[in-house]
This record gives sequence, structure tokens and C-alpha cells, in this order.
Amino acid sequence: MTLVKKKFLLSFTPSIVNEPITYKMVKEFDLMVNILRAEVSERGGRLLIEVDGKPSQVSKGVGFLKSAGVEVKELNEYVNRDEDRCTHCGACLSICPADAFEIDGMSWKVSFKAAKCIACGLCIDTCPPRAMKLRIW
Ligand code: SF4
Ligand code: SF4
Repeated sequence: MTLVKKKFLLSFTPSIVNEPITYKMVKEFDLMVNILRAEVSERGGRLLIEVDGKPSQVSKGVGFLKSAGVEVKELNEYVNRDEDRCTHCGACLSICPADAFEIDGMSWKVSFKAAKCIACGLCIDTCPPRAMKLRIW
């Protein structure tokens, strides 16, 4: 059975933010969860997670989260680049921990591989013309 890797943005209301819901999902549905970003405040919490597992188990895990009152949004592209703003300066190349930027040795153009991005946000402040945007935070 092939495994899938999906990214989700989870939103928790204040009444459930301290409950071990994500932990229970990992245990009950045999999933691997990597927390990419977390934010908790008095208004609740948000988690950006990457989930690895069998497709049926991932679906069941998502169903479990929803039944526990968590708002679940699947993310495909969550960091993007405004191509009109990018000056191909290369400042993002060394900062990205996921090697999501590549430079073409002939044209010196910097390309952005969104599929590799783990949403750490480092390039957003590093990019001089503010071409990198995090769409969800
Ligand atoms: S730092 Fe910004 S402007 Fe420079 S190459 Fe990267 S995305 Fe383009
Ligand atoms: S958000 Fe982080 S992982 Fe994604 S492209 Fe920017 S530096 Fe790389």
C-alpha cells in the first residue's frame, strides 16, 4: 500500500486547544505527524502539520479531528512567490532549509519549488523585494 504525505492547517477553539487531540489521532490511526508550525493564543490555536500514512488512515484521522471539533484545511500550496517581484537576487538560496530554491547556472534565474517548501517562513523576511508570501498565517 502506498503511503501519502499531506499537509493540513488545524484550527482549535480555546475550549479544545489544550486537549491531546493530535496525539490521539497519531496513536489511533498509526500516522506520522510532523509539526511544521504552531501558534497558540487566548483565541485558540493553529497547527500546520504534515501527515504520513496510508490514505485510508489519513482520511480516518482527519475525520477524527473534525469530530473532535477541530477545523481542518488541507493545504497544497501555502507559500508562494510573486514572480513579478522576484529580482533573482539569490538571497533565499542559502537560507532555505528545504532547498526549495534552485539557481540556473546559465541564466542565473532562481526558481522556487513549492513542493519542497516546509513553510518555515525564513525566506519571507529575507527576500529584499518581499516576493515570498505565506498565505495562511
Ligand atoms: S530572495 Fe526573493 S527576490 Fe531574491 S531570488 Fe529569492 S525570491 Fe527572488
Ligand atoms: S518558507 Fe522556508 S522552506 Fe519554504 S521556501 Fe521559504 S525558506 Fe524554504
